[in-house]
Amino acid sequence: MPNLPVLVIGGGPAGLEAARGVADLGYKAVLVEKESVLGGRPILESYAALTPDMRNTEEAMNEMIGRISNNEAVDIRTGATVTAVEGEAPNFKVTLQNGSGAETLDVSSVIVSTGFQHFDPGRETQMYGYYEFDDVITLTDAEKMLKAGKFVRPSTGEAPKRVAFIQCVGSRDRQIGNKWCSKVCCGIASKQASEIRHFVPDAKLFIFYIDLRAYGFWEDELYWKAQEENKVNYIRGIVTEINKRGESVVVKGEDTTMGRPMEIPMDMVILSVGMEPSEGTKDMSKLFNLPLESHGYIATTGGALNTVETTVPGVFIAGAAGGPADLEDSVSMAGAAASRACAFIRKSEMAVA
Ligand SMILES: Cc1cc2nc3c(=O)[nH]c(=O)nc-3n(C[C@H](O)[C@H](O)[C@H](O)COP(=O)(O)OP(=O)(O)OC[C@H]3O[C@@H](n4cnc5c(N)ncnc54)[C@H](O)[C@@H]3O)c2cc1C
Ligand code: SF4
Repeated sequence: MPNLPVLVIGGGPAGLEAARGVADLGYKAVLVEKESVLGGRPILESYAALTPDMRNTEEAMNEMIGRISNNEAVDIRTGATVTAVEGEAPNFKVTLQNGSGAETLDVSSVIVSTGFQHFDPGRETQMYGYYEFDDVITLTDAEKMLKAGKFVRPSTGEAPKRVAFIQCVGSRDRQIGNKWCSKVCCGIASKQASEIRHFVPDAKLFIFYIDLRAYGFWEDELYWKAQEENKVNYIRGIVTEINKRGESVVVKGEDTTMGRPMEIPMDMVILSVGMEPSEGTKDMSKLFNLPLESHGYIATTGGALNTVETTVPGVFIAGAAGGPADLEDSVSMAGAAASRACAFIRKSEMAVA
């Protein structure tokens, strides 16, 4: 039997690490990315610096890309998607579509690493005024500003004096159906607030949270640093509405520590939008007949004890295609998926020999 490559779908952090892992284990990989560039959300959304070590995003992603781009074992196809699949592992026949046409490839196994998309705060909940008010932005808009090295009010171009983050926008919200914690946004808001402090040393910075979830080392590396070194005010409160009053955007809701209503004028509000499965993740689940778990991400067979194997033999997942994940989760899953995919090929080879 020929040694067919592993198909890795999605060139974000998880896909880049999965392709590298397959190559390091002595097998071939074909990495398919639908955009014209590799690097996933961190590059496509222009994240400035990555938590928790504040590494420059481009530098970090370029390092990951560099490990596979000069590697003969990895065939990189950008601007391409998988549109059809036939057969079963270890002999899948997949159709790749790119700008110039279609092509058929034989692959032995598949790693789906098609990631997530950010919640659109104008989609279901209109109360935050994202599309109405210039001074209401999202975490990703803020990343772009931080990357550009200029943090100003969009409406005036001046430095803001009062900035608020609203946590759990599109996450932990049963009404809209997103019944999960997006895992990263408390840490990212704390990181951004600390970065913003350097641009606006005298501004008042607030983070409104339901309860704060900075798990593991992020507690120390992000949360306490923001609070103690960068004087960020954390307010336990539920925000129900954002209105415009004069030049200000007014945050309305309930201060749940004090048990009383609050109405606080701000110059800028940053919505901590969470994660949802990407369209690509949904498409690939249909194409490969991969069942979804109850939140709409691709299901694995063994829960916490098997985070990468799907119910379809030879098809594995890595990263945020399987649920909210930070970079550490995504890269760790990718290593596991690469080793499982290679073990799968090895076992198939031995079965034939
Ligand atoms: C605002 C924000 C900031 C964040 N900042 C940090 C941070 O500082 N540190 C941290 O640890 N985590 C951070 N995260 C989380 C981080 O973005 C994710 O952990 C990481 O991007 C997940 O990687 P991934 O490869 O699984 O998915 P993605 O980054 O989503 O990559 C998936 C890739 O697959 C491609 N794709 C999708 N569908 C197809 C298809 N059908 N065919 C081919 N290609 C396809 C996409 O174009 C994309 O390139 C942040 C998240 C948010 C919401
Ligand atoms: S990480 Fe924080 S902001 Fe994000 S959904 Fe969880 S609790 Fe809400």
